[in-house]
Amino acid sequence: MRLKHVKGSEEAIASSALVVQDPKEKRGKWFSVFGNDNSVRIEIGMGKGRFITEHAVRNPDINYIGIEKYSSVLLRAIQKVEAMEKPVPNLIFICMDATEICEVFGEKEIDRIYLNFSDPWPKDRHAKRRLESRQFLEKYARILKNDGVIEFKTDNRILFDFAVEEVEPAGWKIDAITYDLHGDPAVNEGNIMTEYEEKFSSMGNPIFKYIISKNL
Ligand code: SAM
Repeated sequence: MRLKHVKGSEEAIASSALVVQDPKEKRGKWFSVFGNDNSVRIEIGMGKGRFITEHAVRNPDINYIGIEKYSSVLLRAIQKVEAMEKPVPNLIFICMDATEICEVFGEKEIDRIYLNFSDPWPKDRHAKRRLESRQFLEKYARILKNDGVIEFKTDNRILFDFAVEEVEPAGWKIDAITYDLHGDPAVNEGNIMTEYEEKFSSMGNPIFKYIISKNL
C-alpha cells in the first residue's frame, strides 16, 4: 500500500492506548495484555483495519491483534476504533515489521493468522519478503498452536499461485481453497471484506482464498 506519510503519525501511534508500545516484552504473556486466557488471532498487514475491527466486534470472546508496518496506515485504523460508540477491549494494534514476529510472540501463542491482500513483491529476488513465503511460514509454524490455521485471501493470481506452491514444501497442508470466494458459499460463510477486497471485487476481480494448517 502506497500512502503519503501522515505528519505526526509516529507521535500519535506512540501515545495511543490502542497500540502496544513494547511488544517484545509481551512475548509469551499476551494474556496479561488482555486480562484473560481467550484465544489470540492476529492479522498481519492489516492496513486500515476494517477486517480485524469487525471481527473483534463480532467475537468479544476472542482477542485480536492487528499488525501493520506503517504508522500512517495504522493511524487510520486507530482513528476508526476511537470514533466508535463503544470501546473494543479485545482489539489492540502493533506497529512493526512482520519479520520480527517470533520476537513478539512465543511458541504456540497464537490461534489463527489472517493475511489479506498482502503486498505481492513481484520480483523473484524479493520472493522471501512475501508474507506467504516458506520463510514466513516457518516463522508462523513456531508461533501458531498445533491446531491453528492461516487464512489468506487476495485477488492477485500470481501471488496466490506462489502461496499455494509454498504450502507443502514448508510443511503445511491445505484445508480449504477457492478461486472464487464470493461465489463459494461454504468458504465465504461469515466473510468480512477488507478495504482492498471491496475495491477489487467491485471491479469484477475474483477473490482467491486458502486455509492451511501445519502438517504434523
Ligand atoms: N489487509 C488490508 C486490506 O486487505 O485491505 C491492506 C492490504 S495492503 C495491500 C498490505 C498492507 O500490508 C499494507 O498496509 C502494508 O503496509 C502492510 N505490510 C506489508 N508488509 C508488511 C510487513 N512485513 N509487516 C507488517 N505489515 C506489512
